[in-house]
Amino acid sequence: MAAPTVDDLVTTLLDLYTGVEQRIARDIATSLQAGLDSPDWAADKLAALGQLRQRTERVLARLGQESDDRVRQVIALAAQRGGQQALRELHIQADAPLPDLARIVEAIPGVGALVRLARELALTLRSTHVQILRWALDVYREVIARTALPDVLLGVQTRRQAAQRAWEQLLDRGVTGFQDRAGRRWQLASYVEMAVRTGALQAMRQAHADRLADEGEDLVIVSDSPRECGLCRPWERKVLSISGRAVGRVQVEHATEDRMMTVTVSASLAAARVAGLFHPNCTHSVSAYLPGVTKVGSADHDPAGYEAKQRQRAIERHIRRWKLRAAGAIDPAAKRKADGKVRKWQTALRQHIAEHGLKRLRYREQVGRAR
Ligand SMILES: [Zn+2]
Repeated sequence: MAAPTVDDLVTTLLDLYTGVEQRIARDIATSLQAGLDSPDWAADKLAALGQLRQRTERVLARLGQESDDRVRQVIALAAQRGGQQALRELHIQADAPLPDLARIVEAIPGVGALVRLARELALTLRSTHVQILRWALDVYREVIARTALPDVLLGVQTRRQAAQRAWEQLLDRGVTGFQDRAGRRWQLASYVEMAVRTGALQAMRQAHADRLADEGEDLVIVSDSPRECGLCRPWERKVLSISGRAVGRVQVEHATEDRMMTVTVSASLAAARVAGLFHPNCTHSVSAYLPGVTKVGSADHDPAGYEAKQRQRAIERHIRRWKLRAAGAIDPAAKRKADGKVRKWQTALRQHIAEHGLKRLRYREQVGRAR
């Protein structure tokens, strides 16, 4: 039984942040464009820096509220899915889903952990806002500095092209400079995606384990992910204990027959997590292990499938990059070129998906709704 996905939940926040990134890029381009033919352009633009700061701060203040709201929903929905999954695994009829935090708070034990997860994720996302603001002001100043060099002050067209070139280079880097705990650097979209996916999966796993424990179940088995992640390979199809009470060769009751049987429990769920299971962007899950009923099977690997998935994500990044460029274009010729690239990569994506039988996740390439 496959674990429920959180892809659609990740979408809601990824859309929000890429939308804001686009919106700020468009605002900067519009501001830089105005008065490009004036001899006082550079001085005027620098004088307008304070206005750009104010506008961006307003956008970010709204983003903060919206982001906090969506984070609470994402965590609540993910937890609900985890709890329902646990019941399905035990063949207990689950209630119809209700996307309401208050109800979930009532229904799920250990909800303090969920509130903590929601707060952590909200803080992680809000920590990007100061960097988004800094980025907007830095790139704006940088375009002016590069464009106002004396040797490009030859006429409107040249200056427009110089501004476009400088801006393109900066836009390609995107809002960057986010660092995770392991010290890796991320672009905004990838960082948001990683943070939300990690938080949502944690909430789902927490609720899943809590609900199983509630129903008196202690053993779970790690999935055999079709999209391999190396860190978790040693854990595939291993039996783990939620409580950690019994590890090693243990005697347990058969799930459906009136007899005892021996099961090898590899570790506690917590120990497996410390050893690397469920790292960020991990594709593994656990499900209830019913002694004598659940088939352990052997783990089989699909490196080709994993490669195809990675390629899909790379193409989706190209689409996002060119959409950002199109939104922030100063020069109409550059906008046409960017639009053409978007179409080209969209065609490549369709072909790749058809060839490899992948599921298309439209949200990844969307620029998101402007707010
Ligand atoms: Zn993994």
